[in-house]
Amino acid sequence: MTTKTRALPKHSLAADFDKAVKDLRAIVGDGNLVVDEARLAPYNKIMMPVPNEQHAPSAAITPESVEQIQAILRVLNRYRIPAYPISTGKNLGYGSAAPVQRGQVVMDLRRMNRILEVDADLCTALVEPGVTYQQLYDYLQEKKLPLWFSCPAPSAIAGPLGNMVDRGVGYTPYGEHFLFSCGMEVVLANGEVLRTGMGSMPNSNTWQVFKWGYGPTLDGIFTQSNYGIVTKMGMWLMPAPPDFRPFSIQYPEETDIAKIVEALRPLRIAMVIPNAVVIAHTLWEAPCTPVKRADYYTGPGAIPDEAVAKIRKDHDIGAWNVYAALYGTKETNDANWKIIEAVAAATGGRIVTQSKSQALEYRFDLMKGKPNLGEFGLYNWRGGGGSIWFAPVSQAKGSETLRQMKLAKTILGKYGFDYVGEFIVGWRDMHHVVDLLFDRSDAEQTRKAYACYDELLHAFAKEGYGMYRANTAFAEKVAATYGPVKRGVEKKLKKALDPNNILAPGRCGISL
Ligand SMILES: Cc1cc2nc3c(=O)[nH]c(=O)nc-3n(C[C@H](O)[C@H](O)[C@H](O)COP(=O)(O)OP(=O)(O)OC[C@H]3O[C@@H](n4cnc5c(N)ncnc54)[C@H](O)[C@@H]3O)c2cc1C
Repeated sequence: MTTKTRALPKHSLAADFDKAVKDLRAIVGDGNLVVDEARLAPYNKIMMPVPNEQHAPSAAITPESVEQIQAILRVLNRYRIPAYPISTGKNLGYGSAAPVQRGQVVMDLRRMNRILEVDADLCTALVEPGVTYQQLYDYLQEKKLPLWFSCPAPSAIAGPLGNMVDRGVGYTPYGEHFLFSCGMEVVLANGEVLRTGMGSMPNSNTWQVFKWGYGPTLDGIFTQSNYGIVTKMGMWLMPAPPDFRPFSIQYPEETDIAKIVEALRPLRIAMVIPNAVVIAHTLWEAPCTPVKRADYYTGPGAIPDEAVAKIRKDHDIGAWNVYAALYGTKETNDANWKIIEAVAAATGGRIVTQSKSQALEYRFDLMKGKPNLGEFGLYNWRGGGGSIWFAPVSQAKGSETLRQMKLAKTILGKYGFDYVGEFIVGWRDMHHVVDLLFDRSDAEQTRKAYACYDELLHAFAKEGYGMYRANTAFAEKVAATYGPVKRGVEKKLKKALDPNNILAPGRCGISL
């Protein structure tokens, strides 16, 4: 079992680790603990520009209950072995299912996959970590419940709990997923089980309807952190609207982003457009249409603007492609539709309502919370399986988005990468998401991708732009951009809640 390259937890001796493995096996049974390197391979698949070894797990364990998790934590505390919890483990482009640091034991919660409750009157659900969006969708369909939810693009395989604890986003009016969660159950490092909000009160039936409870609201500290293992999550579902009108508005020029945002922000803040508006660049839209990069450019460096313009023309794609929808009754949507038409006409945009490409189809489905995998087309653009999301937050102001786009495009171009970007969600903010796509089988491109992300991160931070979320390889560097006081508080919390540092040390830069 001991090989030269075996990944062991930091500070662990092989003999101690083997003893711990024996104890863990006794808790979950033989089939639910993996230490064999070949069988660990799915937990070491990454898309980031760093060596796999950096994120190799020492083991993977799949508990089936809160009681098993508590027993596992006793062993981990005894041997000071760190675990990295995942729910459905599809955090692709942010670290996948691989641990944040080499040698951590992946705690894969996929077997805890029950939909515990759906209240059709209150439009709420209570789910376990392993529940996928597809599973929830099928459940609602089978029971003929007219309820929708919001899901991220890889929804068919990802899940609401894992997405929410990483503060992910989706495309219906409930798209800011943490905001629409309500009540968590968390197993703390010492094995205690905390229910947040009203969940702490015996016999309360308001856990999934009132978020705050009494005293400090704790839910936030269990997102993008490592203070506990979330084993249940309440989420709000949306009544299916009587009338749903998805649309796209195409704009011809890259600089149009400024006027698009200025025109749409008031509609978004006033909730005329209630969902997460997406403004996708040509090169986000093209691979999902689908268009292949190699058919337009095979030379060195980033794809030239002329080739991008040709793609637009050949495939009827905008320089920017706005996606949004109206949700209401026929009467309210008729009234609001006139506003959308007027805004599009005033800003030189062309409205598209009929699904005419795969890109439009998957976007229209996402806006009604129908899971799909349409966005995986992005990976055919360049090939080679390398991807990291660069995701700074911007104000929803035209001038800001233009500034961020130009800065990102310049730095990407310097390293030979294309600007594959979109602005999403937000009421008053925008998540500017750039997919840094590279060929991971090409060592030079991989090296450049690392350097490029590094420069993007620091150049944006210098301008005051912070990431909303980051991949595990850059967790420490991203956390550093938020300054020492915040980090100091995070460390104090870690010390209080996890004194043996056994829960995902390093996640989001938090460790003892
Ligand atoms: C093509 C493509 C498009 C994407 N589009 C989107 C998008 O639109 N929106 C979006 O948000 N993301 C998007 N993503 C990123 C990602 O795939 C999703 O966010 C996905 O939902 C995350 O994976 P998951 O749900 O399986 O969560 P997991 O991988 O299970 O969890 C995410 C992280 O949260 C922590 N965690 C998980 N479970 C627990 C737990 N029970 N207790 C404590 N901590 C835990 C872990 O650190 C874990 O790594 C996209 C990815 C791809 C490849």
